[in-house]
Amino acid sequence: MAVWIVEENCTGCGLCVRACPYGVIALEDKLAVIDERCTNCGACVASCQFEALESDIKAKPIPDLSAYQGVWVLAEHHGGQLGQVTRELLGEGSRLAAALGHGLSVVLMGHRVEHLAAELAAYGAERVYLAEHPDLENYATLAHTRALAGLIAEHQPAVLLMGATPLGRDLAPRVSRRLDLGLTADCTALAIDPENGQLRQTRPAFGGNVMASIITPRHRPQMATVRPGVMAPLEPRTGTEAELVRAEVALGPEDLLVKLVSFKASGRQEVDLGQAKIIVAGGRGCGGEEGFDLLRGLADDLGAELAGTRVAAEEGWIPPERQIGQTGQSVRPEIYLAFGISGAIQHRAGVAGARYIVAVNRDPAAAIFSVADYALVGDLFKIAPAIRRALAEV
Ligand SMILES: Cc1cc2nc3c(=O)[nH]c(=O)nc-3n(C[C@H](O)[C@H](O)[C@H](O)COP(=O)(O)OP(=O)(O)OC[C@H]3O[C@@H](n4cnc5c(N)ncnc54)[C@H](O)[C@@H]3O)c2cc1C
Repeated sequence: MAVWIVEENCTGCGLCVRACPYGVIALEDKLAVIDERCTNCGACVASCQFEALESDIKAKPIPDLSAYQGVWVLAEHHGGQLGQVTRELLGEGSRLAAALGHGLSVVLMGHRVEHLAAELAAYGAERVYLAEHPDLENYATLAHTRALAGLIAEHQPAVLLMGATPLGRDLAPRVSRRLDLGLTADCTALAIDPENGQLRQTRPAFGGNVMASIITPRHRPQMATVRPGVMAPLEPRTGTEAELVRAEVALGPEDLLVKLVSFKASGRQEVDLGQAKIIVAGGRGCGGEEGFDLLRGLADDLGAELAGTRVAAEEGWIPPERQIGQTGQSVRPEIYLAFGISGAIQHRAGVAGARYIVAVNRDPAAAIFSVADYALVGDLFKIAPAIRRALAEV
């Protein structure tokens, strides 16, 4: 297989040079020249307007994937309680299922977890695949991979969504590898292409500087993990019931290589910022502990959670689990108050779901103001105490 130049047609326009994602085409004496690092991707052939590039690479036909139907969500639960990310994925899953004209199902794996099916139905599940087995009581990579991969192979869903949680980040790549599927991790937006019904999976790329929309045209299910706090759950409905499909789970010794011996909670206090209604967040502009003490007081007045930017976490002004953003948590509070935060794209990625953003920054050109509903230009050390005084009066 190769790509070659038809010299008599080449005008030296340079379109192919710009189109080559690998930078292996150059112009020499107004003629395109391809070097040996060419991967035969064909991007240059498509870009040429003068029929000066030819290739003997045949586009792989897209297989008939019409047998794959339905949107699936993997349920996460801990201590008999459904994880919030599952409710969020059900909200998004129901929007995708409606756009596709497919049903919405949930895979519920565990031991004695059937009681969760009612709540899953309330949040939009039409069908629950219940995979119960004593060895699924605690999460174990190999056993859960076996159970989920078996269900997928048998029922052939079109889309599978999982939380980009520690569990989802461990399980999703295993399943995708075992079934030879694609996987788009850490999506921040999902949509169905109205033309061809493919799932557009959007996630930050190149350090958050571009948002990449990824499709999986040749494989099903289209698998994506979504960060907690990004998608909105539906309001729970009453009087709904989901069809319960009991799945056989057959685990062999090769699936049970790892056993949970005991569980010890870390001393670290878990913070579920995803549930917070009000968040007071600080950045480098707070200058240190003193600035954060001020914000902590304000957060207490408001009954809010305290959080911050990566800079604040790296400086040790807030614990790492309170970092908001692309590599921290995504949140969707009613009110997000940002003090001394510039609003870098990686930080904004974590607050896109906030209902109202109130930003305080002394730089009127700060990027945070481009997403703020209320912009207060000034010194946070004057504005935060003024807000506290005003709150004390009411
Ligand atoms: C791959 C990657 C992932 C990342 N992930 C994250 C992430 O998850 N979360 C995150 O937050 N960042 C993340 N970052 C870092 C991000 O790019 C920014 O560097 C960071 O968000 C900046 O933090 P900041 O706003 O606190 O600091 P700065 O950008 O330095 O901004 C400080 C702001 O404070 C203002 N200010 C200063 N003094 C005052 C005052 N007295 N009163 C009012 N305003 C004042 C300044 O005008 C300035 O706008 C990531 C970067 C990369 C490359």
